[in-house]
Amino acid sequence: MTDVVLSVEDLNVHYGSIHAVKGISFQVKRGEIVTLIGSNGAGKSSTLNAIMNIVPKSKGKVVFNGIDITNLPTNEIVKLGLTLVPEGRKIFPNLTVYENLMMGCYARKDKNKIREDLDWVLNLFPRLKERLKQLGGTLSGGEQQMLALARGLMSRPKVLMMDEPSLGLAPLLVAEVFQVIQQIRNEGVTILLVEQNAFAALKICDYGYVLETGRITLQDKGENLIKNEDVAKAYLGIS
Ligand code: ATP
Repeated sequence: MTDVVLSVEDLNVHYGSIHAVKGISFQVKRGEIVTLIGSNGAGKSSTLNAIMNIVPKSKGKVVFNGIDITNLPTNEIVKLGLTLVPEGRKIFPNLTVYENLMMGCYARKDKNKIREDLDWVLNLFPRLKERLKQLGGTLSGGEQQMLALARGLMSRPKVLMMDEPSLGLAPLLVAEVFQVIQQIRNEGVTILLVEQNAFAALKICDYGYVLETGRITLQDKGENLIKNEDVAKAYLGIS
């Protein structure tokens, strides 16, 4: 089996006359953390949403684990093991933490493994364990982000895509989120991470792509991108 688990070829997304993603191609290898960085409006969310068929592609092909998923409905994609934790958390505010977590399992066939995975996820996020009966909407911003990640993991994905998991979090919590992401990878889940927090993302990733107005302009190992002068100027606040 090839070590590429997710392959995106010539992806294009249009919103009416706006050409948001302009023919990008990239790959994610099994076991890696791959990051897409870029400024506001570069097309990062559109890329993830198009992979999941949450927004339509105007052109392109997506292959996941050897299967062409270009035209599969979102729930079928989730069943195959590809899950998106969307931007802005989108947890269910009127459901408890436990109920939110169970919403992550809807597509699973192996219901007997759910208990085991709940233990796994609560071990990763001990703060949620103490709050299982609390309503999602009453959690702090950081806790809601943890819940969104935890709910994503409850689908037992082979690849977890995350859209700006550190958005709006205090620095200490940002560090915690990035630590958890590494831990999740160490437990065998491949990660595609979209971030505006370029420095933190490049520090933990194996490979990174820079997206500018819908095009990939640079790609390299994270350790090289972090040293790249153009990246430093544009995304790391170093002049
Ligand atoms: P951010 O970091 O700000 O979330 P992004 O890199 O994720 O940005 P996208 O959200 O993918 O960027 O947006 C790419 C472009 O597509 C932007 O110009 C945006 O205004 C436009 N766009 C996104 N969603 C829609 C939509 N539903 N209708 C029209 N235009 C859209």
